Parts: sequence; structure tokens; C-alpha cells
Amino acid sequence: LSGRLGDIFDRLRKRGALSEADVGAALREVRVALLEADVALPVVKDFIDKARERAVGHEVLRSVTPGQQVIKIVHDCLIEMLGGTPGEMPDINAPTPINLIAVPPVPVLMVGLQGSGKTTTTGKLALRLKDRDNRKVLMASLDTRRPAAQEQLKILGEQIGVTTLPIVPGQEPLAIARRALERGRLEGFDVVLLDTAGRLAIDEELMAEVVAIRDATKPTETLLVADAMTGQDAVNVARTFHERVGVTGIVLTRVDGDSRGGAALSMRAVTGQPIKLIGTGEKMDALELFHPDRIANRILGMGDVVSLVERASQTIEKEDAEKLAAKIQKGEFDLEDLASQLRQMRKMGGLQGLMGMLPGVGKIKDQMKTAGLDDKMIKRQEAIISSMTPVERRNPKIIHAKRKIRIAAGSGSTVQDVNKLLKQHQQMADMMKRMKKLGKAGMMRGMPK
Ligand code: GDP
Ligand code: MG
Repeated sequence: LSGRLGDIFDRLRKRGALSEADVGAALREVRVALLEADVALPVVKDFIDKARERAVGHEVLRSVTPGQQVIKIVHDCLIEMLGGTPGEMPDINAPTPINLIAVPPVPVLMVGLQGSGKTTTTGKLALRLKDRDNRKVLMASLDTRRPAAQEQLKILGEQIGVTTLPIVPGQEPLAIARRALERGRLEGFDVVLLDTAGRLAIDEELMAEVVAIRDATKPTETLLVADAMTGQDAVNVARTFHERVGVTGIVLTRVDGDSRGGAALSMRAVTGQPIKLIGTGEKMDALELFHPDRIANRILGMGDVVSLVERASQTIEKEDAEKLAAKIQKGEFDLEDLASQLRQMRKMGGLQGLMGMLPGVGKIKDQMKTAGLDDKMIKRQEAIISSMTPVERRNPKIIHAKRKIRIAAGSGSTVQDVNKLLKQHQQMADMMKRMKKLGKAGMMRGMPK
């Protein structure tokens, strides 16, 4: 796959905005990647349309190809669709993302097909809630279909030190659920995890049973437990459970296997509900928070391209900042430079970031602050400068009264604001000139207070 992609990138080597042709070529490859990752076909189609809309016309960074740029855009899109924010990692110390805001005992319902990992996940979740979130958890198996299903949960409970509801032979699922809640109330449990029965495929009887249990227990969470290996069927399973029962979250199991995780995208797209946790093994501690970024990489299988584009964008920001720093040190500093400095400041998280690149500028920083050049002024000042003509920006001296009125009107500010900006620029330019004269060594001692 990466070979084919490479060819396309080579053919597309040019700069500027992404054309429809650039985007189309790269998205054909993305489509193949998504299908190979087992994302369901209708979800692939929707996703490609969204990505196309976002990519066409998008600027291409220097030193990457249009195709690579498209992949990065697709990757960000994918993270967002999976419920994440590009560039942000979830906090591993955050509480387990399960809604427990209700009068205890809070019922949590586990649903899904047979063999999807419901019982295992019930145990894993109980352990996590007990150890990490300090909750007193009761587990109950409502699976009266499969022989020994209730025993299985009981054994897990003994393993992890979590109470399970005693088994009463012959009792129906609904009666077990009611007994579990009653017991939870009487014995002061915080959470009651209800592990339901599954079927090999979706059927009416299963749905009716789950709906009845839901109505009787009114859970705060109904978690759809689904195997990450579920391919084209994922849409069907997710849609049916969501339409019939109302899913509040998804737990994807067997993410430790070979699957590329396409089911995550399919299920999220169909239900609109978050993927809350992932199962990564058979052991009881193999339950993790969902990282949209990791699954996005896995689904797309082009993580190397993504990090290439990320590196390129960092390099460019750094280059621009260094160029400006060099200019400042040469004592050349016009309004064009001020504007690009303001832009940089915004990108780099304010004043501190940029000035940090200049040697010995602590005092200038203070001066800029006293001069009122703080971060909330940045936007207005950018607006004023962008209302000037290029000639004005290069030669601020020619900006007399009439020009000031025009600039103020153009930027929605006042002549006083324009004057203030010009004065600040003059002060900064003077400072830069002094810096040049003093040289690096003298600068530290010689700066005016
Ligand atoms: P249920 O029928 O939905 O209750 O499914 P089970 O919880 O009984 O799980 C079925 C099988 O899948 C068991 O052998 C589990 O050990 C296994 N399993 C469950 N979750 C995971 C997982 O995250 N990774 C792996 N590798 N196996 C899992
Ligand atoms: Mg089970």
C-alpha cells in the first residue's frame, strides 16, 4: 500500500492549495486503506465525502507533497470523528468515563452479541471502578441461556475481589435484575453491573429481553460491548442495538488482536455515541481508555506520513520565527515584521514563546508589556496593520493624518489606536537598533530599564 501511495505522492509534487485532482487521487488510496481496516462501506463513503470537503483548497505545507497533506487532513478528520481532538492525548489519570451520576446503586447495563466479551468486560470494568474510582461494585449475570454463564461471572468476581449476586437457579433475567438492585440498595453498593445474555446474531427475542431489563432498571449507561474484529456487520449490530435499546457508550474488545479497528469508526458513526473503553487482552486488567489518535493511526495505517507532515509544520513555524529573530537582530524591523511577529505570537502561545528565541531579551519582554503589547491586544493590532498598504508597512513614516483615518476605519479601530501601534512599533524598532549596536554581550547589561 505505501508503495502505491508513494507513487501518487511523487506525481503530485507541487505546492499551493490542494486541487480537486490532488485530493481525489489521495482519497482513492485512503478509501482502500479504510476498507482494508474493515470500516463498513457506507461509513467509508460518508467519511470520504467529509474529508474531501475539508481538504480541497487547503494549503499545502512546504516540504510535503499534496498527497501527504491530504493524509494528514484525513487523519485529523478521523480523530475528530472518533471523538478526539487532533494533537491531544487523553489523560490516563482521568476517572473511568462511565456516568455514575445518579442515586446509588447506579445500574450499568452491558449488552452485545454472544462472545463479544460482555462477561469479561463486566469483570474488567468492576475491577477498574473498584481500584481506580473507589466504588463499591456489585456484579450480576442475567445470562440464563448459556449454561454456566452465571458461574463464569462468579469465578471472575472471586478472582478480582468483587461481589457477585448469589445465583438462584431457575430465576428469569428480569427477576435477577430486580434482585440485584434491591441487594445493591440494602448493602450500600455504589454501582450494579448487569451482564446480559447475547445471541450469535441479532434477533427479536434478544432485543425484547434487553429492552425489558432496561425499562425495569433504568441504567445510567447502556454499554454496547463489541468485538473489534466485527467487519461490515458492525453497522448493523450498532444500529440495531442503538435503535432498539439506546446505547450510551461502546466498549471495543479484542483490540489486542490483528484487527485494524475499523469497527470503532463504523460504530461511532452509526450511533454517534462515544467509544469509552477498549479491551486489550483476556486478563482482568486489560481494559484501557480509548485513544482516538492511536486507533486513527491503526485504521489509516499511514502513521509515518502523518508524523512527517506534523514535523514539517513544526519546522516551518520554527524557520519563520528564526528568520524574524535574525531580522530583529540586524536592526531591521518594519510593520510587516511586526505583523508577522504578531501572527507567530498567536501561533506559539503568545509573547513568551517568540521572545524566548532571542538571546537576552528578558527586559524587552517587560518593556513590551508596559507598552501594552499583551496577548489580548494582538488581534486588534493585526487588524490595524492589515488595513495598511504594503508601502505604508515598509515606511511607517509616511502614515500621516489622512492615512491614519483610513486605516482606523478599515480596521474598526480609532486614530488613537493607530497612533498607539505606530508609537509602539517605533519604540520596538529603536530598541532593536540599540540591540544591534550593543551586541550580544553588551545587550544584557546595557538595556534601558
Ligand atoms: P460474552 O459472551 O459476550 O460474555 O463474552 P465473554 O466475556 O465470555 O468472552 C468471550 C471470549 O473472549 C473469552 O474467551 C474472553 O477471554 C475473550 N475476550 C474478551 N475480551 C477480550 C479482549 O479484549 N481481548 C482478548 N484477546 N480476548 C478477549
Ligand atoms: Mg457472557
